[in-house]
Amino acid sequence: MTDVFMDTYHRLPVTLVKGEGSWVFDNNGKKYLDFTSGIAVNCLGHNYPPLVNAIAQQSAKLIHTGNYFLSDIVSAFAQRLVKACAPGGMKKVFLANSGAEANEGACKIARKYSLNKYGAGRHTIVTLNGSFHGRTITTLSATGQDKFHVNFSPFTDGFVHIPVDPQALDRALDEKTTAGLLVEVVQGESGIKIQTHEFLETAARLCAQRDILLIFDEVQCGMGRTGTFLAFQQYMAGGAPLKADIVTLAKGLSGGIPSGAVLAGEKTEGVFSQGDHGSTFGGNPIAAAAGLVVLDTVDDPAFLAEISRKGNMLVEGIKSLNHPKVKEVRGKGLMVGVDVDTEAWPLLEAAIARADGAKNRSGLLMLSAGANTLRFLPPYTISDSEIGQGLEMLKELLG
Ligand SMILES: *Cc1c(COP(=O)(O)O)cnc(C)c1O
Repeated sequence: MTDVFMDTYHRLPVTLVKGEGSWVFDNNGKKYLDFTSGIAVNCLGHNYPPLVNAIAQQSAKLIHTGNYFLSDIVSAFAQRLVKACAPGGMKKVFLANSGAEANEGACKIARKYSLNKYGAGRHTIVTLNGSFHGRTITTLSATGQDKFHVNFSPFTDGFVHIPVDPQALDRALDEKTTAGLLVEVVQGESGIKIQTHEFLETAARLCAQRDILLIFDEVQCGMGRTGTFLAFQQYMAGGAPLKADIVTLAKGLSGGIPSGAVLAGEKTEGVFSQGDHGSTFGGNPIAAAAGLVVLDTVDDPAFLAEISRKGNMLVEGIKSLNHPKVKEVRGKGLMVGVDVDTEAWPLLEAAIARADGAKNRSGLLMLSAGANTLRFLPPYTISDSEIGQGLEMLKELLG
């Protein structure tokens, strides 16, 4: 069945055909509660009517224009996105298609900013151990995990990885060689690791003092996932809400349509000039129409508060299982990691195998992040009773 695919994914044994809200259905009619949102992408769940309608209506008007022409829907999306990110200090946007591309754009802006201001040689971008920034050769270089630094040499030069530690920051952020610091506020792929207030406060202070750009990769943790529109908005620096120089977004940005964005603040908004960057598909009208629905829904204090509340409910629910196999639970909003003292993958398979059409039993879609961590990224629209059903299934699966 999958013979023609290159063997890049260890897939779970289920073929999905449709979804409805927080549920997906397979080709045998079996039903699964979706605690993955397609890796933080389907943030408004499946078959969400406003999203489906926006996509359908836009596809009947224009599917693609190319960036040499203006499009009202794309302009409206860009404006709405910059507005949502303005509290984080953002002023302008470049639209891309994916997280890796957004991070490539961020690295280009950081290098050019430093080159314009300080001349050649001040181009290093510091990233953190355990980080994940994408699969292109450059974003693999940025990724602070050794397992990604094999097979594809030579990797892009100019990246340094450091431990997540304020003192390591102080040593690494060298004014003469460093252009930027790239950080995930919540490290997703390496197991839902949440940065401390001390660490981000130190990062912001040192970056400001040394004119090193503070870049947040919010590809997974942004777009409301953690209960604020951008995750770093939950942090302070020097007594004021933390502001970034560059922010990248993708995953949930258009609710399932491929979409990515690099946002730039006061220092960086004018760095790119004509011809510096581009993308054939970036700024796609369907992604824009879908993204507008996501932004209008998610960038709303009451909606964001619900994400926090439901996230707390999920975390507290897992903790109160008091299960001996659960070692630690970490969460911010609906981004939750559960360290277990067993292999995570067999649990993912068992969660699918429990679905049984005849017995009207559903399965549970889960992700792992590392060998021993379960990762939950449910849609923001999940209900309290669905969280309860997920907890019941988890309890049974842990045995
Ligand atoms: C998924 C992810 C990426 C890469 O995004 P793609 O769309 O797969 O290129 C980059 N950074 C973070 C934090 C991610 O979670």
